[in-house]
Amino acid sequence: MTPERRTQEGVASVETLLEALPYIRQFHGRTVVIKYGGAAMREEDLRVGLNPVVVHGGGPDITTYMERLGMEVRFHEGLRVSDPETVEVAKMVLLGKVNSDIVNRINRHGQPAVGLSGDDGSMFTVKPVANADQVGNVGEIERVDVDVLNHIAADYIPVVASAAADVDGNSYNVNADAAAGKVAAALRAHKAIFLTDVPGWLETPDDPSSLISRATVDEVERALGDVAGGMRPKLAAIVEAIRGGVGSAQIIDGSRPHSLLLELFTDAGIGTMVTP
Ligand code: ADP
Ligand code: MG
Repeated sequence: MTPERRTQEGVASVETLLEALPYIRQFHGRTVVIKYGGAAMREEDLRVGLNPVVVHGGGPDITTYMERLGMEVRFHEGLRVSDPETVEVAKMVLLGKVNSDIVNRINRHGQPAVGLSGDDGSMFTVKPVANADQVGNVGEIERVDVDVLNHIAADYIPVVASAAADVDGNSYNVNADAAAGKVAAALRAHKAIFLTDVPGWLETPDDPSSLISRATVDEVERALGDVAGGMRPKLAAIVEAIRGGVGSAQIIDGSRPHSLLLELFTDAGIGTMVTP
């Protein structure tokens, strides 16, 4: 089947949802980590019968607030170049705005959610990334302590903002894809789903019809060096998650209506699926 045809067939309809119902029990009780960010934030249908853990960044909002404050916004290989001032603003926007907005929306949808960052319950242990000389205070997660997540997930949907401090209390900007991959691995999640604003991993970045619908983790790892922009940390996070024991990973267009439900509960085959 051509990628184009797959995309057309994935379009939301009541029929597509009805075919989903038999799958709901199959998933029941399994942990699914959902990376939610950027343009995907319009997605409202967050769950049915699953244990979701939401991990988010705040790219566009952080950029908006930085620009309002007259700060320079720069990216290097998909990572935000972060001086201490940038990290301060990023953390304020991530926790004070983006995280609380997501929690509110999930609450209003009838599912109680709890917001937290990597600092809460010392969930993330971070250190500077290898190319810190180029990107500044960007952190890499060394360890995820899932204890606090498991406590919260027993009764609430955890919503994790990708920021954390090191042992000395210095704050770092942590790429949300990387955080989602680490969290998924630490939880040994059934699945990690990356909601984004493109149909998936594209062979040619500006050609939506060049969707790569399936790949193995080895294939992704081999291609990684040639992938640029925001897709690179996403694919790197997927490799990390699957090598860490996550069952599969999916990149889907979260701005498409019902994309998440379609992915979870139908055979519509949307986006890019990566398997071990
Ligand atoms: P988010 O992390 O919020 O999902 P990003 O902007 O960080 O969004 O990452 C997604 C972006 O990656 C796409 O909008 C696209 O511009 C860019 N990109 C670069 N290379 C590719 C590729 N090969 N396939 C798909 N998207 C790509
Ligand atoms: Mg990104």
